Amino acid sequence: MQDAAPPATVSRLITYLRAVADLHGAGTAITSSDSLAATTGISAYQIRKDLAYFGTFGTRGSGYDVPLVHERLREILGLTTVWRVGIIGMGRLGQAITDYPAFGEYGFSIAAMFDHDPDVIGQEIAGITVTDIRHMPETTASRGVEMVLVTVPAAAAQGVAELAVGAGIRAILNFAPVVLRVPAGVHVEPVDFLAGLKRLSYHLRGLPVLKTPGRTQTA
Ligand code: NAD
Repeated sequence: MQDAAPPATVSRLITYLRAVADLHGAGTAITSSDSLAATTGISAYQIRKDLAYFGTFGTRGSGYDVPLVHERLREILGLTTVWRVGIIGMGRLGQAITDYPAFGEYGFSIAAMFDHDPDVIGQEIAGITVTDIRHMPETTASRGVEMVLVTVPAAAAQGVAELAVGAGIRAILNFAPVVLRVPAGVHVEPVDFLAGLKRLSYHLRGLPVLKTPGRTQTA
């Protein structure tokens, strides 16, 4: 297996895949680094460099072969297999995620749902019955779950992550606003839209503020 690419490169590859998938879907056969730069906002130089690192995707001067780049990016990103995903915490966010139609687009399949609330356990959501979290090890094993989404309150997140790791899970997408401590070899991706808002706030700081009635200042 090729050495793991740095996270920034992986993020760019995901952006390229999105752009190339759109072209592929529209039946476009050939594209160029300039054209990809225009849709992705990443420089043509960076695109050429990234793609050259992973192979040859067309003849020099004639552009990139779209189906080839599409397939190769999917392979590099491990998206040619269907990943079976579990969701831990079937409250508002966990349920909203099951409604997201694009979830399956890249081959992610929700295969199990867990909760600890007796009122939630046994409910059927999007065709899957919510399992008692105490049965996570046998359920993940029997359904081939390899990734989990953590959508429990912050105070419960570390505990459920440990249960997941104990059940053999090596990839966790964490929506709870807490840093998870996991053993080496387990990958955690945090998703925090409030952090995004805070980054935006940082960029707007010091600008003249709108005099909106009721606008308050935090301490
Ligand atoms: P919620 O209270 O509606 O749902 C939480 C669910 O987790 C409940 O069904 C509860 O029974 C279950 N749960 C709690 N402890 C558990 C445990 N130990 N084992 C198994 N299940 C357990 O909460 P929500 O609004 O869906 O938010 C869930 C998490 O997602 C929170 O941490 C919240 O801060 C976070 N959140 C993140 C984003 C984001 O963009 N990242 C957005 C909204 C919410």
